[in-house]
Amino acid sequence: MRPFELTAPTTISSAVAGGGAFLAGGTTLVDLMKLNVLTPAHVADINQLPLRGIDNTDGLRVGALERMSDVAAYPGVYPMISRALLQSASQQLRNMASIGGNLLQRTRCGYFRDVAMPCNRRDPGSGCAAIEGANRMHAILGTSDACVATHASDLAVALVALDARVRLVGPAGERTIALTELYREPGDAPQIEHTLAEGELITEVHVPRLDWARNSTYVKVRDRQSYEFALCSAAIALDIRDEHTADARVAVGGVGTVPWRLPSVERELRGAPLTEAAFQAAASVSADGVKPLSANAFKVPLLKRTIVRALLELTERSRA
Ligand SMILES: Cc1cc2nc3c(=O)[nH]c(=O)nc-3n(C[C@H](O)[C@H](O)[C@H](O)COP(=O)(O)OP(=O)(O)OC[C@H]3O[C@@H](n4cnc5c(N)ncnc54)[C@H](O)[C@@H]3O)c2cc1C
Ligand code: SF4
Repeated sequence: MRPFELTAPTTISSAVAGGGAFLAGGTTLVDLMKLNVLTPAHVADINQLPLRGIDNTDGLRVGALERMSDVAAYPGVYPMISRALLQSASQQLRNMASIGGNLLQRTRCGYFRDVAMPCNRRDPGSGCAAIEGANRMHAILGTSDACVATHASDLAVALVALDARVRLVGPAGERTIALTELYREPGDAPQIEHTLAEGELITEVHVPRLDWARNSTYVKVRDRQSYEFALCSAAIALDIRDEHTADARVAVGGVGTVPWRLPSVERELRGAPLTEAAFQAAASVSADGVKPLSANAFKVPLLKRTIVRALLELTERSRA
């Protein structure tokens, strides 16, 4: 047990001025502290901050401290968001875990969580045990010679597909950025996972209104039906008109070092008929640039099949 200071700020300004690690639901942070993977000297429990509230009138606005289960159950939330949330973790965890914490959870790479093993993300310069080791669960997109870990959040995949933005408050003031700008691919500095400045807090997530995203889904393929991270997942929305795809949003999880948007697949889908052959043709470009590892080449065909499965599901639903 390593000693640390625990505070409970009641204002956002005191929280961001105080530094240290923010504690929301604690379902990632406390785990990693117990494993000595994270050893903050100061932990700020942010649960008294005014970061609650869900509003679905001007797009969807969600306070960073809203719990995953409450957002999943909120009326009118796009299906890809509620399905991504409901297929995450377990009911007990979803009742504890916050939206901000979900977006900033750490990778589930086993070597990252084992302080006896080399890991560039936890201990820069020590090496990456996964590249030559057990890498079945690891990424095939956005990897580098320094790190091949996947981003673990299901919710982030759906939010990236929907062009979500996050409001941030830090010691230097307030700013709003696209969620895609929050995440960093590992490159040669995998220990720097996001673009938050020191002390910066996520206060709100905003999903712009997109009426046709009511026809959306989140398909998650995993080793068991619940309580498991994705081998591959697809968040897809389809704008269907006259038996054709007028527009599409496609992002995938379980395969990228960050939540992975696929604009090339979206382009292929625009104007395409609602046939399995057209969906397979569009999905075939999803694998451009993949770099499979020794044990995860199966993710390449799985990625295509997951996308096609989601597209067929949305087509069937629109005809029902
Ligand atoms: C057994 C298990 C299974 C799981 N399965 C899944 C799954 O299938 N899919 C999935 O997506 N997730 C899964 N998770 C992860 C889970 O969703 C996250 O642990 C949870 O969402 C984190 O939220 P939290 O509020 O508990 O975050 P915390 O643990 O409190 O914080 C996590 C990180 O975010 C930071 N942080 C928290 N809030 C903010 C904020 N507002 N601004 C800035 N920084 C902040 C913290 O400092 C910390 O670094 C699983 C977790 C467990 C333990
Ligand atoms: S894949 Fe990344 S997180 Fe996993 S051991 Fe390698 S450097 Fe660490």
